[in-house]
Amino acid sequence: MKTWLVTGGAGFIGSHFIRHVLAREADIRLVNLDALTYAGDPDNLGSAAGDPRHTFVKGDIRDRDLVDSLFSRYAVDTVVHFAAESHVDRSIAEPELFLSVNVLGTQTLLEAAKRHWKTKPEDPRSRDYRPGVRFLQISTDEVYGALGETGRFTESSPLRPGNPYSASKAGADLMALAYFRTYGLPVIITRSCNNFGPCQFPEKLIPRMVRRALADEPLPVYGDGMQVRDWLHVSDHCAALSAVLEKGVPGEVYNISAGCEMTNIGLVKRILAELGKPESLIAHVPDRPGHDRRYALDSGKLASLGWKPACPFEKGLRETIRWYREHPVRGSAFPPADESL
Ligand code: NAD
Repeated sequence: MKTWLVTGGAGFIGSHFIRHVLAREADIRLVNLDALTYAGDPDNLGSAAGDPRHTFVKGDIRDRDLVDSLFSRYAVDTVVHFAAESHVDRSIAEPELFLSVNVLGTQTLLEAAKRHWKTKPEDPRSRDYRPGVRFLQISTDEVYGALGETGRFTESSPLRPGNPYSASKAGADLMALAYFRTYGLPVIITRSCNNFGPCQFPEKLIPRMVRRALADEPLPVYGDGMQVRDWLHVSDHCAALSAVLEKGVPGEVYNISAGCEMTNIGLVKRILAELGKPESLIAHVPDRPGHDRRYALDSGKLASLGWKPACPFEKGLRETIRWYREHPVRGSAFPPADESL
């Protein structure tokens, strides 16, 4: 039986990934390490929480002793690293936390993987690892910075992060690649565009707008709302991660995108139309400092591994809206009304 250490598995994407794996793989044990910050919620796991193949550990990825003990105790052979501080607005208010969790936390995990997976740990020059071990670093399109009106980022585009969140994710990616080049640790990086779906903490654009529209409250939109984002249903992200874990090549980066670009204002209008609410609820607020204008990814490299998105945007949005209608209580610690994605 294989053992995967999944970090951040009580968060939005991590919890979907845990349910995705348990539904498809009979002989994988999952150890879910999550600090349960404001963004983590064990309820996101649903029935996976009680599955005997799933073990939940409340703890911090920066806790070296704890991480070491998990590698030893469970003979971890794969790390799928989601845990992060993930909200741009919070990173602008509290950049040091993002540096600490996203960069140092990632380095703590990389170091533990190196130590536990080396076949000759006493030899500092050895680059031999146990067969089949993998470290999957989950990253974001935001590390590439902003695009102009045309073009798409490929995996070889330069990293030009524009805010403390994306800078911390870029730092983590570079550290992961350094562990591959310097120590030969079998690291793979995925960079996904914006995800949506059930269980996302309602500080992010789609759940936030749905919740406010349902309550007939103003929908705060940054600046002119013409920022373009590339949207991917979380189930397609999970399927892409499975493909990368199965067929991806160590040392490589894979972009993940469904090629679904939309302006923020266009998306907000779709949500209002779906809910039968008036556009007069839209309230433009001053733009976010350093706000990236457009993100778009070329994910042809991932397509060559056989992955393609399966969830059409309209269907995914309708189901997501229905989920938020049916789950009105979660995430009551909302940021104030003048914040948006
Ligand atoms: P999230 O904020 O919903 O969940 C993050 C999880 O990490 C939470 O459960 C939280 O409790 C946990 N966590 C935070 N700090 C921790 C720590 N120090 N130790 C252990 N656990 C900790 O995030 P998400 O949207 O699910 O994103 C998951 C990953 O995917 C992140 O690395 C993010 O950068 C990346 N990503 C997200 C998106 C997106 O659209 N949401 C897009 C691309 C990449």
